[in-house]
Amino acid sequence: MEYRIGNGYDVHALAEGLEMWLGGVRIASSCGFVAHSDGDVAIHALCDALLGALALGDIGKHFPDTSAEYKGIDSKILLAKVMELIRKEGWDIANADLTIAMQKTKLSPYIQQMRECLARVMVIPAEKISVKATTTERLGFVGRSEGCETYAVVLLQR
Ligand code: MG
Repeated sequence: MEYRIGNGYDVHALAEGLEMWLGGVRIASSCGFVAHSDGDVAIHALCDALLGALALGDIGKHFPDTSAEYKGIDSKILLAKVMELIRKEGWDIANADLTIAMQKTKLSPYIQQMRECLARVMVIPAEKISVKATTTERLGFVGRSEGCETYAVVLLQR
């Protein structure tokens, strides 16, 4: 068996009056993410981890934020496209692990839903995807609720 590991990181700024999408799930919140796409920072970090594992560049290279095609796009579509690239080369997911850092919005009620949603889009069992949420103890831009960041690690096998 051959293995590849990849990591991804993404940040989006928070702003009042926008829809919040995270891990493919609509989160009840008065604010959302400022972005060219739907701003799903968790999916973006996951896509970068997948692309990174195969040294295929990053999400900005594959889906440029200057392209009208990707304006307001559902990030689940981007994740499905990245999975196509992974599978085309014969790889499958061993596991993926995400850590979402956000201060104000409580994510624990959504964790299971995110795992199931990501698993559906990636066509893998939910047991292979971990989603964790943390605050940053009110420190830094996350702690001041100026934005949200996500770290992702994936292991591929074939
Ligand atoms: Mg992004």
